[in-house]
Amino acid sequence: MNSSDDAIISKKFDGTIISWNEAAERMFGYTAYEAVNNNISIIIPEELYEEEKEIISKVKNGERIKHYETIRKTKDGNRISIALTVSPINDSNGNIIGISKIARDISGQNIAEEKQATLAAIVNSSDDAIISKTLFGIITSWNHAATKMFGYTEDEVIGKHISIIIPPDRIDEETMIIGNIRSGKKIQHFETVRIAKDGRKVNISLTVSPIRNKDGKIIGASKIARDITERIELEKQRLLYTEKLQQLNKYKDEFMAMASHELKTPLTIIKATLGILLLKMQEDDNSPFVQKTLKQVDKLDKLINDLLDISKIQSGKLELKLADFDMNILLKEIIGNIQLTTPIRIILKENNGQVSAYGDMERIGLVITNLLGNAIKYSPGSKEIVVDAFRADDAIIVSVKDNGIGIPQEDITNIFSRFYRVSGLSSTFSGSGIGLYISSEIISRHGGKIWAESELNKGSTFYFSIRASII
Ligand code: ADP
Repeated sequence: MNSSDDAIISKKFDGTIISWNEAAERMFGYTAYEAVNNNISIIIPEELYEEEKEIISKVKNGERIKHYETIRKTKDGNRISIALTVSPINDSNGNIIGISKIARDISGQNIAEEKQATLAAIVNSSDDAIISKTLFGIITSWNHAATKMFGYTEDEVIGKHISIIIPPDRIDEETMIIGNIRSGKKIQHFETVRIAKDGRKVNISLTVSPIRNKDGKIIGASKIARDITERIELEKQRLLYTEKLQQLNKYKDEFMAMASHELKTPLTIIKATLGILLLKMQEDDNSPFVQKTLKQVDKLDKLINDLLDISKIQSGKLELKLADFDMNILLKEIIGNIQLTTPIRIILKENNGQVSAYGDMERIGLVITNLLGNAIKYSPGSKEIVVDAFRADDAIIVSVKDNGIGIPQEDITNIFSRFYRVSGLSSTFSGSGIGLYISSEIISRHGGKIWAESELNKGSTFYFSIRASII
């Protein structure tokens, strides 16, 4: 009894323990001295008292219970799983006088079994095909998803060579994969094609890892295959749509170019005719109407020019006439013209430094006009706008500062995108979201930078930089 690895205990019907071997001491933590004459309930969890009663009544009837799995508790309160064999003890006359119990600790075994079962459940519930094979390519396991993906049942493929799902023109891949596995290398996300039982092609992404035995020797490979047919299909569709979209976008750009071009000719004639008309009716009471009309025609003219510029930018036809020019002179000229149209004072900061720049003066002039136009438009009622030009290393930086409505932080980088306007402005400020886009294209074609700093309801400062002239 004492050399046994199983706990062997005998007890009376009332539960009094009669004997308790060494394995019982190890298993339950009580010494024989502590256990003998004590009641067996010391190792039975309360919720299992009823079960114990049932077992006793069966044994009383002469029954023997074999490998009954249940739970017991140890001296320090831990619960352990045991397999119980319970037999009656008879006296010399054959009367049942007690019970003998043999308990085997199966906690470790249970954990291993549970782990095994959990792993098996994970493998089987996976949406990815999980397959294992020997180093010779013989399939050794095949989960549900593999059946779903390739159409073969487990029984049909176990023991077969993996080549049954490999297209003939890709058989070399298997040699490469096994070669890698033999040298302990893992293959990850390898995109390839396999063949299902019904001949269907399955696009998969494959991850293959070596399987090692207890001694670390590589004995096979595990494959995880993800069906990427849908993804590839979507990718194809996306490409198709992108191409279509690009084509449509091209049509739109072409249409915009054509429409602005066609609009420009009649508008130029209207503008010239109105100019002549205005000259002829100097003292006429009706001349303010013509002036008003001319102003609107000017707006229309600017819009059409902007649209034409966009078309040129889109088709890469925006040509720059690069030369050295004095930024101060350009700023003075533009400010002089714009000042006539607004009560807001435009101040050009005095600076003594050299602000000779290198670029297309006319286009840079357009950028400055756009920035000043915005500064005026978006700061109604304010008193002044400050313009500055200074040299920083190899660049000339120009800034236009207003005290206007400001720009929300989240919009500040987007305002340079085509047609982008801060939301909620349209009812108060007319505009098309083109000016800053054209300006940023012009500046980037110069190899320069354009950016803005702004605080809501306080004002904005727009900056751009271009190369300083070398001389
Ligand atoms: P538009 O003024 O015709 O809408 P822009 O491309 O010139 O187009 O400007 C884009 C947007 O940037 C404007 O709609 C406005 O929301 C914002 N914005 C530009 N300049 C200023 C400024 N100085 N102050 C406040 N918001 C501005």
